[in-house]
Amino acid sequence: MSRKIALALVSILLVFGLLFALRGLLVVPMLERAFGRVMVADIRDDLAPGLAVGICGAGGPMPDPERSGPCLVIIAGENLLMVDAGTGGARNLNRMQVPIGEVDAVLLTHFHSDHIDGLGETGTLRWISTANTSPLPVIAPRGVEPVVDGFNLSYAKDAKYRAAHHGVGVAPLSGKGLSARPFGLPDAGASAVVWDQGGLKVVAFKVNHDPVQPAVGYRFDYGGRSVVVSGDTTQSENLERFARDADLLLHDALSPELVGIMHSAANKAGNDILEKITLDIQGYHASPTEAAASAAASNSRQLVFYHIVPPLVLPGMDRVFLAGVEDIYSGKVSLAQDGMVFSLPSDSTDILELKSRL
Ligand SMILES: [Zn+2]
Ligand SMILES: [Zn+2]
Repeated sequence: MSRKIALALVSILLVFGLLFALRGLLVVPMLERAFGRVMVADIRDDLAPGLAVGICGAGGPMPDPERSGPCLVIIAGENLLMVDAGTGGARNLNRMQVPIGEVDAVLLTHFHSDHIDGLGETGTLRWISTANTSPLPVIAPRGVEPVVDGFNLSYAKDAKYRAAHHGVGVAPLSGKGLSARPFGLPDAGASAVVWDQGGLKVVAFKVNHDPVQPAVGYRFDYGGRSVVVSGDTTQSENLERFARDADLLLHDALSPELVGIMHSAANKAGNDILEKITLDIQGYHASPTEAAASAAASNSRQLVFYHIVPPLVLPGMDRVFLAGVEDIYSGKVSLAQDGMVFSLPSDSTDILELKSRL
């Protein structure tokens, strides 16, 4: 190496070293601009008019660094709805540049802890970010009332602190907490219209997550496009009926192969509780190939696996998870991760995936 090149390399290293040492000072002038940009950013500015679905939580109850608890957001014209409120979902919305203060309602698929444990956070962030004057509606099958009452009781003191601290102009007490909007569980073959506003129609239908009852999935129709969300279910004929010709089917899935490995590891480790749980959970979720069979039977155009169990934390686990899926379903298949957004422009057949903001 010539002396000149060596000198240049040393100079570059010195400059980088200096910049690194001064990073605390350099970041300050950049922050105000960055904060200002983030505060006005709105994902809807980048969406074609139509129906869109964002993944604010792609995982299930087990911790996964790429997948928070189950949470989806539906964007359609003026409508902004969440489906389930798993841990981390509300915070992800902020990072995804979805204005949580404008969320119209949360739809719950069922009352398992991983689907409701972010409800308090969701209600609080929605209330406080835009001084909402009415509580967050929680639309769910009958039985949601005590769930909502419990969250409201738990967060009552927090609401008083915030109103006292910021004043009721910022934290109006009329907007704190949640309000239950129960609907009757439709029988198999029937559906319940749970939302019909601004061109967006949402129906709920029964799925099978026994012994968990009630358990529903939802279908969203807007601008000639459709999205179906399974909730937690085994392979369900009723879902296949209501997912007919859907553009996008978001289906939960549990890999029996991967959970089976956890089961035998728990057995070898003498962990009786984990051994039992990893056996029990295999009975109330569809496997990836069963979800693929539902996508094929319903003629859905694209399948997105969400509520992915177990966490896919090592390279290659995704291949085990997806093994056999393409033999059953010929449409496009995606494994959801937090931050994914699918845009379905009105009156077209396009399904676009936006660049993740996370
Ligand atoms: Zn679940
Ligand atoms: Zn569940």
